[in-house]
Amino acid sequence: MLTIDSLSHRLSSYLEPAQINRVRRAYYYAEQAHTGQYRRSGEPYITHPLAVANILASIHMDHQSLMAAMLHDVIEDTGISKPAIVNQFGQQVADIVDGVSKLAKIEFETQAEKQAKNFQKMALAMARDLRVIVVKLSDRLHNMRTLGALPPEKKRRIAKETLEIYAPIAHRLGMNDWRIEFEDRGFAAMHPLRATRLHASLQQVRGNRKTLVEKIQSAIERRLAREKIDGLVIGREKHLFSIYNKMRNKHKSFKEIMDVYAFRIIVEDIDTCYRTLGAIHNLYKPRSGEFKDYIAIPKENGYQSLHTGVVGVQGVPIEVQIRTKEMDELASRGVAAHWLYKSSGEDDASNGSYNRANRWIKRLLEIQQHTNSSVEFVENVKIDLFRDEVYVFTPKGEIIELPAGSTPVDFAYAVHTQVGNTCVACRINDRPAPLSQPLESGEKIKIITSEKSQPNPNWLNFVITAKARAAIRHYLKTQRHTESVELGKRMFARALSNNNLQLEKLNTDQVKALLEKTNSESMEVMYESIGLGQITAITITHILLPEVDTTPSGNVTAPISIESSDSLLISFARCCRPIPGDPIVAHLSTGKGVVVHRETCKNVSDLRSKKENISDINWSPEVQGEYLTQVHVEVKSERGIIASLATRIANTGTSIEGIQVNERDAEHSVITLTIAVTSRVHLANVMRSIRNMRSVAGVSRPKT
Ligand code: MN
Repeated sequence: MLTIDSLSHRLSSYLEPAQINRVRRAYYYAEQAHTGQYRRSGEPYITHPLAVANILASIHMDHQSLMAAMLHDVIEDTGISKPAIVNQFGQQVADIVDGVSKLAKIEFETQAEKQAKNFQKMALAMARDLRVIVVKLSDRLHNMRTLGALPPEKKRRIAKETLEIYAPIAHRLGMNDWRIEFEDRGFAAMHPLRATRLHASLQQVRGNRKTLVEKIQSAIERRLAREKIDGLVIGREKHLFSIYNKMRNKHKSFKEIMDVYAFRIIVEDIDTCYRTLGAIHNLYKPRSGEFKDYIAIPKENGYQSLHTGVVGVQGVPIEVQIRTKEMDELASRGVAAHWLYKSSGEDDASNGSYNRANRWIKRLLEIQQHTNSSVEFVENVKIDLFRDEVYVFTPKGEIIELPAGSTPVDFAYAVHTQVGNTCVACRINDRPAPLSQPLESGEKIKIITSEKSQPNPNWLNFVITAKARAAIRHYLKTQRHTESVELGKRMFARALSNNNLQLEKLNTDQVKALLEKTNSESMEVMYESIGLGQITAITITHILLPEVDTTPSGNVTAPISIESSDSLLISFARCCRPIPGDPIVAHLSTGKGVVVHRETCKNVSDLRSKKENISDINWSPEVQGEYLTQVHVEVKSERGIIASLATRIANTGTSIEGIQVNERDAEHSVITLTIAVTSRVHLANVMRSIRNMRSVAGVSRPKT
């Protein structure tokens, strides 16, 4: 039976005593934490992490990975926190444990193949450290080895996930031995009957093949000896799942597949690989089109080997792989092969293990630049180290890929432009979150939309995808155009009616004159210029009525009116903060459109004296929206006054946008509140409710 002592003994072959001690400490810590927990098989829970660590030891993973393996279920299952693990075992180990726990939390549901691919990418993207993946794979391997105790439904779910997610990840990382085990165990759990039958047939033909395999093998060995090549010849058999796949996907019969005889030859160096190839082609006739040089052009996961197909005695097809010992090790262990060599002894940060994985990726990058071969692999794996993408879920479980740093608004636009244009709020993992919060892989995002809503120009400050940026700009531009045309038209109509003219009754000559004098292509363009404050309506009216004095007489019959607070062209002056019900005037300023002030505002008289363009404006009877305004509250300074003030205001259904406190003397303060109200009546209600408070000495609205 596997114990911590037998594992320690195994570790002594490649780890330092101090490192082994740390692994043991992690074991005892986990044992304590899992006390009273059992696996479905009835064994104490700790047997599982111990076995996971043991699997990692079999491929000589470093001590930090082993420690993380011991602790990998502690955060999830025992409520011990990550900081506690940082404390006990350091940041790196804690990060691996945390990474494995996070991977365990994402749920794999959908069937689509594309989805599975994204899921693999997401898993890779979530792991900052490739060791997270290796520990997770080891965890899954042990679970697959002990599937027996689970109910059939759960068994199938785990098997499916293993085949669709973990086997491909192992493949991607070049960990071929583990991939094969995942595939065969996954296959057996998914399709027990088919696997049993196939296994039986395999047993049968194995006997028949044995003699021929031995014959070919010794023929090859003799030829190598004659050429003075030192090589190890191994007869190979395809694994169950690959036979099954070939039969199903390539429509080959079992017999066709089994009639091929496969061998692997391991030699000293690359030179010898090619010499061996020559010897084989000398011995048997090569089949055309079957030679592949994966040494010069490695496969996308770094796999290197020579492959050839030849015709043996009596036309028997033979497949031969030729590679060096190092290539062979890499072919079966992939990224993990890089932990094989003893670490430098340093323990923390910026060293050994992580760099080794890094080096592995770098090597792949170099290989690919060198050979110009497919870059798909790099695209897939680099995300782990360069982390330039995040993968998040829609509420339906679909995965959306976004550049790192993307926000919920980017996500909304990635789903659909309309979703982006109408989004008002979001929930990340079922909790409310700001629309500007950067997303992390694995998160579930729900966007809340509102028909009436529109993109906020502020979003441009934090969105990072081109799609979101372009869509917001486009929307704002169109919106601004529509609004300014409408506003300009209203202002022009008003100016006309002040002079007893009607827009609808202008004749073609008048229109022509207007367009010519204002240099506009169309009336729409002219309205826009008016709306944007580039030309005034009065100037234009003057074109039609040169003899009449068109300056406003104050005798306004049809003032333009404000309908809502979220117009892009109408803004509300911060000096006096007008709200519906206040007498107001409009200041038309170039580029800014209309700025609304209270009639009593000091700045207005300044503007008037400077002969600025001030005109009348009023609130539409149906005016909508909330408007920011301020109130001064004089209070006796006492504890909790701000809190009770805030509660009181909140109770009137009013939101507070800002609080500023000025101490007047030791006993009194003036608090300036910025609140959002819909009308003067609303404001009066708020002021009344504050005034009633015991420690409030006075409430007023600033004049300016
Ligand atoms: Mn586990």
